[in-house]
Amino acid sequence: MSYPNTQLLIDGQWCDAASGKTLAVLNPATGQEIGRVAHADRADLDRALAAAQKGFEHWSRVPAVERSKLMRAAAGLMRERADAIAREMTQEQGKPLAEAKGEVLMSADIIEWFAEEGRRVYGRVVPSRNLASQQLVLKEPVGPVAAFTPWNFPINQVVRKLCAALTTGCSILVKAPEETPASPASLLRAFVDAGVPAGVVGLVYGDPAEISSYLIPHPVIRKITFTGSTPVGKQLASLAGLHMKRATMELGGHAPVIIAEDADITLAARAAGGAKFRNAGQVCISPTRFLVHESRKAEFVQALAQQAQRVKVGDGLAEGITMGPLANARRLGAMAQFTDDALSRGATVVAGGQRLGEVGNFYAPTVLADVPLDAKIFNDEPFGPMAAVRGFNTLDEAIAEANRLPFGLAGYAFTRSLKNAHQLSQQLQVGMLWINQPAAAWPEMPFGGVKDSGYGSEGGIEALEAYLNTKSVSVLCD
Ligand code: NAD
Repeated sequence: MSYPNTQLLIDGQWCDAASGKTLAVLNPATGQEIGRVAHADRADLDRALAAAQKGFEHWSRVPAVERSKLMRAAAGLMRERADAIAREMTQEQGKPLAEAKGEVLMSADIIEWFAEEGRRVYGRVVPSRNLASQQLVLKEPVGPVAAFTPWNFPINQVVRKLCAALTTGCSILVKAPEETPASPASLLRAFVDAGVPAGVVGLVYGDPAEISSYLIPHPVIRKITFTGSTPVGKQLASLAGLHMKRATMELGGHAPVIIAEDADITLAARAAGGAKFRNAGQVCISPTRFLVHESRKAEFVQALAQQAQRVKVGDGLAEGITMGPLANARRLGAMAQFTDDALSRGATVVAGGQRLGEVGNFYAPTVLADVPLDAKIFNDEPFGPMAAVRGFNTLDEAIAEANRLPFGLAGYAFTRSLKNAHQLSQQLQVGMLWINQPAAAWPEMPFGGVKDSGYGSEGGIEALEAYLNTKSVSVLCD
């Protein structure tokens, strides 16, 4: 199976690092090295920053309608190349081929939505107190952007940042994940091949902490956008604050799923259970804390366990596989810790609970029941295929538990009552809430969290606002 070595993209050219340094890329299904990725150092970053500055000066003066055309051309290339790019992604990240292809095709939809929306970045005319004066509110691109993206959705995590930047007239330098480098490089290649001018998009890999601590304070960079864990996000947000840079932070979550007394249990198990094991649970909006009304708990636990047992785990390239390995070996140790801790505190395993095989990072889809509140899994984000269930007696109690943690990204609820749905929409402290349905992260809807899950949005018109400066202009026209 072919898998490319990945280069840096600097000033419109694909190139090796000046030092010639590279890092290994492993297939998580086999543990074998499948390719190398270029490792950028300071000299490469300096060239990439100079290119981003030049790219911004050019791109910010390209009319929105022309930017939109180039973006749409890139979307077309992503669709044409979807099969090949999906194979790269499955080999480096592990997710089943169908999920990888879905991610590539969704990226084309996302590009098109942003391409259109960028044509509607309107300012305002505000009625003046002096009729001889005109008051305008102008929207301007914030400047060159530095983006830091993780390995769980190698394309999706880049494309939202890339598109919000490009459609508003910003240039962008992406530090994509070293573990899954080829598929994000293919995304950027589509923009280069579509004709986006040199310097407008750049791509580097290397040591994440070294690169972020150099780029964030750098005077060329005017905005930071990061997706990853809350502890790293807090560090980067502090650095951005210190240097007065705009920032969007899409961080960890620990999504509660409230299953009310009147819920459709089959729907809840299918929708939330299906979502739980997608991408082996390595999803920031993955449902994790299943809070079920006591009267329905036994029924739900059984339905969720059946859902877990139906998952077909294996190499994502193989036919019929519905869950691949964890993306890197360190996640296996983390899963074992969550399970052992829950069992030692009195929880029971009703599905999974162990590593599968000795080769590759496979962990069984796991359901833990009667999990006490002080268990690690009820407090720390598992970021893996683990669901933890416990009962509640009143909706108020469930809402209090949902809001107990510092996270506030996604939430889910299942109820047939409009009154319950209204109360949940009002009282859950989350950035996104899905009621009676699985998550659907469409580009036209805001995507982001509150509390320790970060700030800013990566969807909807709010995603564009994050890349725009507002300028008030008052002109005395006498
Ligand atoms: P991690 O915190 O080490 O890294 C998460 C991501 O941040 C990686 O892509 C990494 O390259 C990057 N990163 C780490 N330190 C950085 C720095 N100083 N500057 C810039 N980028 C940096 O965790 P991990 O072991 O890779 O992943 C596990 C945890 O990460 C999970 O528990 C989850 O909370 C979080 N995560 C969240 C998302 C998300 O979609 N929000 C995605 C991936 C990982």
